[in-house]
Amino acid sequence: MLPVSLKLDFPILGQSVNGKPLVYLDNAATSQNPSAVIEASRRYYEEINSNIHRGTHYLARAATEAHENARNTIAAHIGAATPNEVIFTSGCTDAINLVANIISLNPGDEILISTLEHHSNIVPWQMLAERTGAKITVIPCDEDGVLDQAAFKSLLTEKTKILAVTWVSNAFGTVNPVREMVAAAKANGTITLVDAAQAVPHLAIDVQALGADFLAFSGHKTYAPTGIGILWGRLELLEQLPPWRGGGEMIKEVTFEGTTYNAPPFKYEAGTPNIEGGIALAAAFDYMNAIGISKIHDHEEALMRAAAESLGEIPGIRLYGPVDRIGALSFALEGVHHYDLGTLIDQMGVAVRTGHHCCQPLMARFGITGTTRASFAFYNTLEDIDSLTTAVKKAATMLL
Ligand code: PMP
Repeated sequence: MLPVSLKLDFPILGQSVNGKPLVYLDNAATSQNPSAVIEASRRYYEEINSNIHRGTHYLARAATEAHENARNTIAAHIGAATPNEVIFTSGCTDAINLVANIISLNPGDEILISTLEHHSNIVPWQMLAERTGAKITVIPCDEDGVLDQAAFKSLLTEKTKILAVTWVSNAFGTVNPVREMVAAAKANGTITLVDAAQAVPHLAIDVQALGADFLAFSGHKTYAPTGIGILWGRLELLEQLPPWRGGGEMIKEVTFEGTTYNAPPFKYEAGTPNIEGGIALAAAFDYMNAIGISKIHDHEEALMRAAAESLGEIPGIRLYGPVDRIGALSFALEGVHHYDLGTLIDQMGVAVRTGHHCCQPLMARFGITGTTRASFAFYNTLEDIDSLTTAVKKAATMLL
């Protein structure tokens, strides 16, 4: 296990909520920032805040250098072939929308997604399908929330032009075999996008080994601020595909007769980006790497095991997802609405999420409107799991 003292690196976790020390178990929605990340943001605004790429003065050069250094750090963290494959976006949703707006499809083409997807990896594809006459097909999952690989193989046909699948389910913590799925899709000539929003905070990422064409994630789920995200794309594709948003930075030359476009990544970065956010995200990766991703993974695995074990003993509880889930543990208490459970737990100082987790089709698959979800970060402790279990038990006696 990682030392309990790691929590001290996260100032927000030191506070009390409802008179109880805060137990923060809503990390799949947004994780907290360590002092090193907050300090990187603060230093940016105190020392180098300026617009990038366009200025010759000192601050503009310093901000540009910090911004591009951040891109280099992020590229190295995810194993990009070159930093030019790393596009700054406002988040995972923005990154997926970008891809869904630069790929053209024909009527009858298919976009293959899965039952486990977050709305962010459903709706942009539905909108693309509406625009082009393409069709959405969906990989089903079993009662444990595990994708049916045989169904996946039979749904992957010559019509399948895009596979967009989540690496880790934000609702159930299911880890999909994305490497194998991507390999099958690539062999089929299908463009692949992996939603890594819930993978980047917990797993080592190597886009070369993964083999996908695109990978999307958000900074705020991986110990960095909101409003920053990344789209990684294979360079040759980014070079071939058209731009999306038009504006400053994405151009080579503009005349009233027409415009030529910049090379990737700038081609996909119209307008002033979230400069501080990118720098803070790089600082978050530095911080995670100083701890060690494999140590983070082992620690979180132990937390998950402890949580599933202790919650699983509560009469009337149902845990969703497979036993080898990571990050998120969804559960329901028979006869209790998830909202009531979440509200009572919050009053005991434990922050969990309730609802559909932006996965309404997954909830519909299980015939429910939502769950209560505890989601973990490496700063969580076994004591936090005890607090969660105690709170759920107490709430159960009050509500049943
Ligand atoms: N995909 C997954 C798997 C997620 O968990 C989330 C956020 N809950 C998103 C996409 C969307 O991320 P954001 O709201 O940061 O754009």
